[in-house]
This record gives sequence, structure tokens and C-alpha cells, in this order.
Amino acid sequence: MTAVIEVQNLTKTYQLGRDTVVKALRGLSFSIQEGEFVAIMGPSGSGKSTLMHILGCLDVPSKGVYLLDGKETNRMTDNQLARFRNHKIGFVFQSFNLLPRTSAVENVELPLVYNGYRNARKLATEALDRVGLMDRLHHRPNELSIGQQQRVAIARALVTGPSLILADEPTGNLDTRSSEEVLSIIQSLNDEGRTIVLVTHEHDISQHAKRLVRLRDGLIVSDEPVSDRLLAADILRNMPTEEGQA
Ligand code: ADP
Ligand code: MG
Repeated sequence: MTAVIEVQNLTKTYQLGRDTVVKALRGLSFSIQEGEFVAIMGPSGSGKSTLMHILGCLDVPSKGVYLLDGKETNRMTDNQLARFRNHKIGFVFQSFNLLPRTSAVENVELPLVYNGYRNARKLATEALDRVGLMDRLHHRPNELSIGQQQRVAIARALVTGPSLILADEPTGNLDTRSSEEVLSIIQSLNDEGRTIVLVTHEHDISQHAKRLVRLRDGLIVSDEPVSDRLLAADILRNMPTEEGQA
């Protein structure tokens, strides 16, 4: 079986001025199969976002090989890379990057509009339904809670039907309940067979994945299955409905 993601001896260095070099990634090798749910954990500055940008074809490695669906990304044309970015991969970031004066449904439509889809409104509405926001279609970001804004961003990531979801600290700005709501959506996307890579620096968040890769100083220090996996739906079921209630 071909891995969705395979990296071999990946390095990334940033040249800062004349004599300062930052080695953000120092030779990573791993592969991720279709349907996996991998958490990447590590302290701030360990190279998590650098790795995610490379995996998402938003940046290129300094050295090493990155195979996406078995194809070497450094041999792909710009058009081929754009096809992967626009159809195969969905991104969720810590900051939601929603357009402020634009309704939820219009924000979610954007990737479709850029890619010339005809049925953008219908697909955007379905994606918002999927994240439980059917009653917020025409709200603007500032009329939504932070957790709802992140769910709009997830709907936007989903709307093109990607098979690979890359989420970089998607719960970093969220309270516990909103975090679990986002994780429950991500877990259900994985249950449907989508491949998930989730970056976090929090242990509890990482335990929602099925496999945990730890980074430190640009190197993998461990790569293990998650043994006592947390299920967000169960955690939400056991939470009080309103804050402050017992
Ligand atoms: P993390 O997401 O784990 O906090 P990053 O991948 O953002 O880590 O950063 C890894 C290292 O690379 C850090 O030392 C950071 O300062 C450096 N770095 C990241 N992006 C850049 C950049 N564009 N230019 C220079 N250095 C960078
Ligand atoms: Mg980061």
C-alpha cells in the first residue's frame, strides 16, 4: 500500500542574515498511511509548524524527500502542487483566518469559488451542517463564539472534500468545551477514513489521536501508538451543558 505521506531525511534550515542559520528540522523520516490519525507534539520551536507547512506543500524542505501519495513533491509542477493543496489537503490553523465582514457560508464558499465550482452554496451549507452550524449560516465571524469560528474554519477546510486534514494547534485558542467539540469533529472525520495530522503542544489533546510522534529540536524523539485514547464525544457527554452548572 502506498503511504499518504512519506518523508525521508527531511531537513529545513532558515538563513537569518549572513552567519546565523536556524535548523528547524534536522533529518526526519516517517510515513503515514491512509486513515491514520497522528498527533505531532513538541515544545514551542521544535519544528511542528515548519513540518506542517512542508507536508501541506506550502513550503519546501531544504533537503530530503517528501512523497505525497507516492509522488515526489519536488518533481511536481506548480499546477500539480496546487491541485493537491486545493483538493486533497484541508488546513486548519490556530488562528481561523476568516474574512471579518463576510458571513459563515460565504467564508466556507471561498475555496470553491476560487476553484470554479458551480454548486458552491450547496456544498458550503452542507459543510456547515457537518460542523453543527446550520443555524449560523449568515452570521459574521464577530457574531460567533471563538469555538464556532473555528468550526467555520473546519467547514472551510472540508468543503473541497480533502482526504488529508492538517490541523496546526486547532484548539490552541479554545476553552475546554470548544476544544472537545472541535476534536469530536476531527475524530468523526477520521472515522470516515480521512487521514489526520494534528499538531499540539498539549498532552491531553494528543491523546485524542491514534499515534503520537514527539518532536524536539527538529528531530523525532518518539513515535508510538496512543494506548488509552480519549474520545471527545464521551468527554462532551459527561460535561455540564452550561458553564457554571454542576
Ligand atoms: P513550532 O511550531 O514547533 O513552535 P516552528 O516550526 O514554528 O516551531 O519553528 C521551528 C524553529 O524554526 C524555531 O527556532 C523558529 O524560530 C524557526 N523558524 C520558523 N519559521 C522561521 C522563518 N520563517 N524564518 C526563520 N526562522 C524560522
Ligand atoms: Mg507552531
